[in-house]
Amino acid sequence: MSQKISGVKGMNDLLPGELGGDMAPVETWQFIERAAREVFSRFGYGEIRTPMVEDTALFVRSVGEETDIVGKEMYTFEDKGGRSLSLRPEGTAPAVRAYIEHSVLNQEPLTRWYYVGPMFRYERMKTGRYRQFFQIGAEALGSKEAAQDVELMDMVVQLLEQVGLKDVSLNLNSLGDDACRPAYHQKLVDYLKSHREQLCEDCQRRLETNPMRVLDCKNEKCQAIVKAAPNILEFLCEPCKAHFADVRRKLDVLGIRYVVNPQIVRGLDYYTRTTFEFIAAHPALGTASTVGGGGRYDKLLKALGGPDVPAVGFALGLDRLTLLLKEGGQKYSAPPDLFVAVADEGSADAAFALASKLRHEGLKVEFDTRGGSLKSQMKRADKTKARFTLVLGQAERESGKGQLKPMAGGEPIAVSLSEVAQAVRAAGQGTAGQG
Ligand code: AMP
Repeated sequence: MSQKISGVKGMNDLLPGELGGDMAPVETWQFIERAAREVFSRFGYGEIRTPMVEDTALFVRSVGEETDIVGKEMYTFEDKGGRSLSLRPEGTAPAVRAYIEHSVLNQEPLTRWYYVGPMFRYERMKTGRYRQFFQIGAEALGSKEAAQDVELMDMVVQLLEQVGLKDVSLNLNSLGDDACRPAYHQKLVDYLKSHREQLCEDCQRRLETNPMRVLDCKNEKCQAIVKAAPNILEFLCEPCKAHFADVRRKLDVLGIRYVVNPQIVRGLDYYTRTTFEFIAAHPALGTASTVGGGGRYDKLLKALGGPDVPAVGFALGLDRLTLLLKEGGQKYSAPPDLFVAVADEGSADAAFALASKLRHEGLKVEFDTRGGSLKSQMKRADKTKARFTLVLGQAERESGKGQLKPMAGGEPIAVSLSEVAQAVRAAGQGTAGQG
């Protein structure tokens, strides 16, 4: 026998219905994606689709060489032409690359984009942390104002509300800018160095390469030290202070609740001023409780050879959102309206054609292509949870009439075979076939 081949570690299969294993059923994914497209389009955001693979240098220069993402987690390979390429570990750099490449600034002063798709990081796996994971993200390019930051946070809040997720808290911070961050940076390094021995191994390394990352280390010992670390918000220069105050005021104007959390530094190098995270308190996620985050990156475009355009964005982890909604997964897929069953061999083609015609007419119809006994077909009908069944045999073909049997019980409804769709719709209070 030939050997079985398994999927790649950390990369999940998403399956429909109840087949899904540890992952939420694909219907839950579709439900959130649909909601995101709807909510984001209300805010005037258009979808972009960039390639899954980019020049490695794009991520090295934007995300930063010293970050875990670029330093340890990227899937990098050489293509047959000898180019160094990487599977994208995040969506902002590709979006910015595309913005610059297509000279979008020359065509519009304010650009609002969103994306949905897989990202790749070679991470240590656990619940809610995978090597291929999906993000829903948005970027707004061209506005430096606090209103833009808050619009994006509002969009996340409205999406979470639309899919019915509560108990997600917005954590807000500012990282300052080139004018004020260096002084803070120095103070932080001095402080952390004086506690070097108590830091975890990773943080001892971060202290040299990326000290701000120590602030969001999950290690308990590090957290205790971080609690007493200098607070970035006390170091902000006047313009950054004013921007932060404006963000807070506008969140209040919209009635969006948040907590100020000076430990929200984010893993990537390119952030300036506003950073934020949405954190869920839910056992399904364990320690992977951050469902999304984002911030302002006013310097990134120029650093990538583009125009000096301020920008802000966020990314939500779709895997984590689906885990939070997992229990409700089934309810996002509508059952079939109708199961068409074949009573006798001579009626097989007529039933097959009827099922096809009803689908043309917009109904969701199940038909057992394996054929088989009426009994086995009815078992299948039960399993699909179809609302009605219609059995087609010689008698029905000759009379042009049939019976819609409600699977949940109740009286059968007599129908003309030419008006099945209308009858199913009428019986379903006008909802059938519209999902
Ligand atoms: P980041 O780009 O690291 O800020 O991530 C944004 C969001 O993407 C996080 O809050 C998570 O919800 C999600 N995410 C990041 N990395 C992973 C991963 N390895 N597996 C699953 N979700 C992830």
